[in-house]
Amino acid sequence: MRLCIVGYPLGHTLSPVVYNRYFRSLGISARYGTVEISPERFETVIGRILREYDGFNVTIPFKERILDHVEVQNEARIIRAVNCVFRNQGYNTDWIGFVKSLEDVDVSEPILVLGAGGAARAVLYGLCKMGMKHVILVNRTFNRAARLAESFRKLGLPLEVYDLSKLRQLLPRVKSLINTTSVGLKGDIFSIEPHDLSHLHLVYDVVYGETPLQQRAKGVGVVHVIGGEEMLRLQAVENLRIWGLLEDEEVFKRVFEEVTR
Ligand code: NAP
Repeated sequence: MRLCIVGYPLGHTLSPVVYNRYFRSLGISARYGTVEISPERFETVIGRILREYDGFNVTIPFKERILDHVEVQNEARIIRAVNCVFRNQGYNTDWIGFVKSLEDVDVSEPILVLGAGGAARAVLYGLCKMGMKHVILVNRTFNRAARLAESFRKLGLPLEVYDLSKLRQLLPRVKSLINTTSVGLKGDIFSIEPHDLSHLHLVYDVVYGETPLQQRAKGVGVVHVIGGEEMLRLQAVENLRIWGLLEDEEVFKRVFEEVTR
């Protein structure tokens, strides 16, 4: 089976190493490559990729643009992002990875979600599925969050919306904080002090690696501090399930941990 990841840039991605090592460990006849497409060439190239590959992952910045080129499954249509394709069908597995990563955690409300991009939509959809009712949405660009809130209200998740300048004022009102922005990727952090986090039960950061937010949360004794790796691993498990290649989830977990450690 021919698989790949489609995105731009892709220099940082560990996906080919993880999937290929998993396939080799189990003798699965599949190969996972990278297809880096510059944003201006996406529409020209995507048809060929759909023909040449059985399945692929889609990452930044194409998770929305791919919607016009595949048959979009229901959840991906609601989230408005596809991150996994199999034989022209487009799926969103990010939200499943998020929900599964919290299976053993008692998530306390109110929850403050930072961000209003693709990751935020997957997380909000996941929170909706988990039956959460009290969520505050905070984003640098207020209007983007307001538009998002409107669509989630229709799904039964009422959202209060604020811009980022209110973050410190809002933190004392919540018990869980979920960062879905890319802040932290370059070692950056929102303007918050460690004691702003000390009362929280959960700090969840979709960004991979140990970010300053996670370090601060651990430093003040937040019980559950979760980074982006679990969501990434568990969405990958769902991708394998969709591609019909999930033969041994434990082997995949071991390989994933070896590569990302
Ligand atoms: P996106 O659609 O481009 O959205 C980016 C979000 O980050 C927006 O809300 C944006 O705010 C905000 N943002 C960016 N820079 C900021 C800054 N300096 N200060 C404050 N807010 C800032 O990206 P995405 O697809 O949602 O991805 C976001 C992050 O999630 C990435 O790091 C990605 O790697 C990660 N991710 C992880 C997983 C996982 O499995 N762990 C899955 C998906 C994504 P504005 O609206 O104001 O621009």
